[in-house]
Amino acid sequence: MRKRMTRGLALMMTAAMVGSMAAGCGAKNEGGQTQTTAKAESSTTAAGAKAPEAGSAPAETEPALEGSLVSAEPKEFTIFLNFNNMPFDSNWQVWQEIAKRTNVSLKGTTSLTNSNEEEAFNLMLSSGQLADIIGYVKSSDLEQLGRDGGLIPLNDLIDQYAPNIKRVMEEDDRFRQAAYSLDGNIYYIPKNQELLSAEYWWIRQDWLDKLGLEVPTTVDELHDVLYAFRNEDPNGNGIKDEVPLFDRAGWKQPEEYLYLWDTSTTFYPRDGKMTFEPLEENFKIGVTNLIKWYEEGILDPEFFTRGASGRDTLLSGDLGGCTHDWVSTGNYNKTLADVIPGFNMVPFTPPADHNGVVKERVSRYPGVGWGISSMCEDPVTVIKFMDFFFSEEGDALVNWGIEGDTYTVNADGTKQFTEKVLNSELTPIGYLRSIGAQYRIGMCQDGEYERAVMTEVALEASKMYDSHPEWFGEDMPPYADGELELKYTEEDDTEYKNLMASIQPYVEQQFQSWILGVEDFETGYDAFVEELKARGIDRALEINQKAYDTYLGKN
Ligand code: CA
Repeated sequence: MRKRMTRGLALMMTAAMVGSMAAGCGAKNEGGQTQTTAKAESSTTAAGAKAPEAGSAPAETEPALEGSLVSAEPKEFTIFLNFNNMPFDSNWQVWQEIAKRTNVSLKGTTSLTNSNEEEAFNLMLSSGQLADIIGYVKSSDLEQLGRDGGLIPLNDLIDQYAPNIKRVMEEDDRFRQAAYSLDGNIYYIPKNQELLSAEYWWIRQDWLDKLGLEVPTTVDELHDVLYAFRNEDPNGNGIKDEVPLFDRAGWKQPEEYLYLWDTSTTFYPRDGKMTFEPLEENFKIGVTNLIKWYEEGILDPEFFTRGASGRDTLLSGDLGGCTHDWVSTGNYNKTLADVIPGFNMVPFTPPADHNGVVKERVSRYPGVGWGISSMCEDPVTVIKFMDFFFSEEGDALVNWGIEGDTYTVNADGTKQFTEKVLNSELTPIGYLRSIGAQYRIGMCQDGEYERAVMTEVALEASKMYDSHPEWFGEDMPPYADGELELKYTEEDDTEYKNLMASIQPYVEQQFQSWILGVEDFETGYDAFVEELKARGIDRALEINQKAYDTYLGKN
């Protein structure tokens, strides 16, 4: 989990810094990651869940309710949710409005001072007192809770009472796949998202101009441009101090830059077949090239240790030339305008790999949302309430906030945020979250909302990548932060985790020692493969193939 958390922290910082699309985009980049920085504050209140007011289950023939009401009389349910260590707060403006419109209000069971989602979750489980509604950062833990009887299957409830959720299930394969557990049950309503792209290639256009170079379109052209960045002093200080290719979060760099040769240090499916890429030919090509790039000074010498602040350091120091990162990278054009005259970071098409293929591996997937616990006495009302968020009205509330206050609707039906949001001291996303919008619930994250808070160049990046779905590959299961997120049966899950606990660290350690020149890649590769076999890579592949077949609907 180290990897996930480190990257998560980097993404958190992106969000905090510019309030751009990095924020709140699915389970892979939100939530529990702040645990890495959160103080282990002891919570004494998480067990405060209490059973709901005993509401009689409404008859199916009850008269239609007015407007968006989901209950004739006011009802209150308890909720466990602590998104990004922001415990649910019933005083949030948006949720007050939701209660007014639906007649359903929620009461958080986590103390507002709680800063450790995982701890609070475990405390709730051990207390035996489950909130009526439960959301949590890890989908596999929610599914586990479902299998253990703590969450009820929602399949029939959705079918009978949630037409909006049902529609999205039918229309959106990725949403449906995220929702279903392998036992056939739906234990939680996912948080869906419209935007596909997540990270983008960025390069210093002003450096290209200075050296009379074009934006690179292939991996070889990229090499030549970065080589020139390193050797021709584009920052003009007479010192060979440029760091042509860099990334925040050191662990991620190997993954992202091996993609240039269509390989990685982990699993990846092709044409229905699961592969472990270090065993494939492309891996040898990729590693050999990266070793060369490292020797040539093209790669950041702090390759493996550059932390989350690396982008800040290298761009504001007029040192970094090219990176692969979120839209927030475009923000430096504004913040550094006075410090580095002409500074201009622009997005560009992923460079074609050595086979001429343009591909972008990093993208977004539906993430975790919320489910209904077995202690909830009125699941019918709750599922109707959950359905509200997939209606136009509910969707607007949780994405945009309050009409007339945080956003306005234009004549053509499009929305725009008010100055209150756009010029908030908290950043737009920060402000929206402070009133309870953009929380981690079962909903659809509106792409227009994200675009509405992007800078011009960020918008350009987002549009460029989202208009090329073919770059993102077909039949791709969730591939978040360089790791496949397939669903496993309970037995397979345990065996797979055990195997990978031995395999993955070994691969990472070998990769690092090859790049840094500690060990020789060419002479060491065969022994590396032998060691992988000894550690059970074939069995891990088999399990992943089965899980992928399930994903493809073959099982
Ligand atoms: Ca220089």
